[in-house]
Amino acid sequence: MNPSDGVTSNRTTGDSQGREGVRFPLCFLDRLRMATDGTGVTALVGAYGCPLQCKWCINPQTWRAGTAFTWVTPTQLYEQVKQDHLYYLATGGGVTFGGGEPLSHAPFITAFRALCPAPWHLCAETSLYVPADFVETAAGAVDCFFVDIKDTDPAVYRAYTGQDNRPVLDNLARLLSLVGPDRVTVRLPLIPGFNTEAHRSRSEARLREMGVTRFDRLTYRIKSTGRGGDGSAANKAE
Ligand code: SF4
Repeated sequence: MNPSDGVTSNRTTGDSQGREGVRFPLCFLDRLRMATDGTGVTALVGAYGCPLQCKWCINPQTWRAGTAFTWVTPTQLYEQVKQDHLYYLATGGGVTFGGGEPLSHAPFITAFRALCPAPWHLCAETSLYVPADFVETAAGAVDCFFVDIKDTDPAVYRAYTGQDNRPVLDNLARLLSLVGPDRVTVRLPLIPGFNTEAHRSRSEARLREMGVTRFDRLTYRIKSTGRGGDGSAANKAE
């Protein structure tokens, strides 16, 4: 796979230039979340599809064959979340895009942003394993990014995801240059069987050299049956 693989933004016929010309594969919508994956009250919007193949995927339902999802336009998504407008205003909240890989749909997020009242806070949870131009597009629409970097060691990253982490680190440098460190939180997981505290310390040191200042340290708790039938993970904050 490469960063452009997985389910990517789907353009409709007949309106390819307009706001409604791009669609999002909506896998789940979890409204009225409080102070998790963003500030204040948030709606978590999940994208179907991911270009990575993490051994202990935290959301295997977002890429499994047979998972139901719906292609929605920006207006259709806006209609589903606008009922929580007053909660967003009162708490500084808004909409968080997750998945799967939401930045594979950066043009959709930009079109959705254009519909949202200015005070809504938009966040994205991403691996950054996406084409560079999607990072640049998202930088203009998203207020804060949670980047699941996994590990900066190429061997650990390849063993865990099946992919090269060079595009991810390049995209992180690109994102930091575009939005600055205050809008980027990097998640550093301890992944059973793949990395150690020593790996994680080396990752943090390297990321600090790149300009990252905000970190979220997690430990994965392994559950049963993920991609390849090996297992999946749940985050545990430290
Ligand atoms: S854990 Fe890995 S495979 Fe699962 S959704 Fe996130 S980036 Fe994709």
